Amino acid sequence: TLSDRLSSVFTNLRGKGRLSDADIDATAREIRIALLEADVALPVVRQFTTAIKERARGEEVSKALNPAQQVIKIVNDELVEILGGQTRRLQFAKTPPTVIMLAGLQGAGKTTLAGKLARWLREQGHTPVLVACDLQRPNAVTQLQVVGERAGVAVYAPEPGNTDGGQTSSGPGGDPVKVARDSIEFARRAQHDMVIVDTAGRLGIDADMMQQAADIRDAVQPDEVLFVVDAMVGQDAVNTAEAFGDGVGFSGVVLTKLDGDARGGAALSVRYVTGQPIMFASNGEKLEDFDVFHPDRMASRILGMGDMLTLIEQAQQHFDEAEAEKMAAKLSGGMQNFTLEDFLDQLMAIRRMGPIGNLLGMLPGMGQMKDAISQVDDKDLDRTAAIIRSMTPAERENPKMINGSRRLRIANGSGVRVNDVNQLVDRFFEARKMMGQLGGMGLPGMRRASKK
Ligand code: GDP
Ligand code: MG
Repeated sequence: TLSDRLSSVFTNLRGKGRLSDADIDATAREIRIALLEADVALPVVRQFTTAIKERARGEEVSKALNPAQQVIKIVNDELVEILGGQTRRLQFAKTPPTVIMLAGLQGAGKTTLAGKLARWLREQGHTPVLVACDLQRPNAVTQLQVVGERAGVAVYAPEPGNTDGGQTSSGPGGDPVKVARDSIEFARRAQHDMVIVDTAGRLGIDADMMQQAADIRDAVQPDEVLFVVDAMVGQDAVNTAEAFGDGVGFSGVVLTKLDGDARGGAALSVRYVTGQPIMFASNGEKLEDFDVFHPDRMASRILGMGDMLTLIEQAQQHFDEAEAEKMAAKLSGGMQNFTLEDFLDQLMAIRRMGPIGNLLGMLPGMGQMKDAISQVDDKDLDRTAAIIRSMTPAERENPKMINGSRRLRIANGSGVRVNDVNQLVDRFFEARKMMGQLGGMGLPGMRRASKK
């Protein structure tokens, strides 16, 4: 898997500042292979790895994660972002019926999806009707009728199967555009609030098919055109998506056959190339095998990560505990060892835990600490952190050396007044004294100390 390969790229990088260019290049190569194996289209792989490289360059090596894990996290975050960046719900018409048109190649799963979508909508209280506009394949109309029956929804089709009693004259081989147009009128009269238009596909991209789909689109003025694509087709998905994007245009994507062993590269490719959101996922032949699309699941599928990401989250959490223990050990030698660097760590730990107002009351011993960390809000914390970051390591280790001229330099460096620096230093000494009296209780990193 990608994680195995990345682990062998990185050796002993942990805590070394930034990833080196050589490391990042090696990483990019591995990610590239992983994406190609997941059947992501080449131009998309190129763009994506470039974006990842940029981001990895800017990132410090985390203390909590090993570099492989860290890069996986970056890649995963980016994938989730791209796959889900613009996920949205179905758009409904202001005046019903809402019209959803399905388009895609033959065998993509349109007719199956029509049933799934209808059932799903019916469960939400809608009254959908399915419209049979695939008059090309001999059994297409019957297939939709079977699907409609299973889903418990009406089907509008050219006779003889028309549930409206056969008010259109087109039989199989008739005019799908007319069926489409008439179905809207039918839906209005029969009070169906949603119309799902199933269309014909061909085995490959074909000008006639595109023209017919475009004509149906013009006839029904759909609120959504969903491009239905078989996840198993991999790289071909890009060409198909582009052709349908140009020929018909679509507002959303549905991936089908995700129950197969496809690695899901089609999802990334289609999303990347068309910029349209993936809205639903189909994962089986039964009507229930259907769900709204989950970007996070797809991302881990593409990366082949399984539970890796859970492990990464856990590593991060454990890291916080490990830090806390380190701090406790350090302070067992007395508060004199508590430096401004530690103070900064503590402040950042507090910052990570959320708005400070909620927090002060929750911590053991924190009541007494209130004065020392007086009336801090989050902005105050950030400013404090900025001031400490403007100090030299020596100053952080030994705050007593911070004299007047150093204070001026620090103030200038962090963009505050000298008075702010004075206050911080005073506050630090006060906090250190007070924590000494409390035996190390009070700050988040020291919970362990208080147990001892
Ligand atoms: P259409 O030509 O686009 O209308 O495709 P169909 O809906 O007729 O589906 C073509 C074939 O794929 C049928 O045998 C379906 O049962 C099957 N199929 C559709 N969706 C899925 C899916 O999500 N998973 C699996 N395994 N098969 C599917
Ligand atoms: Mg069909």
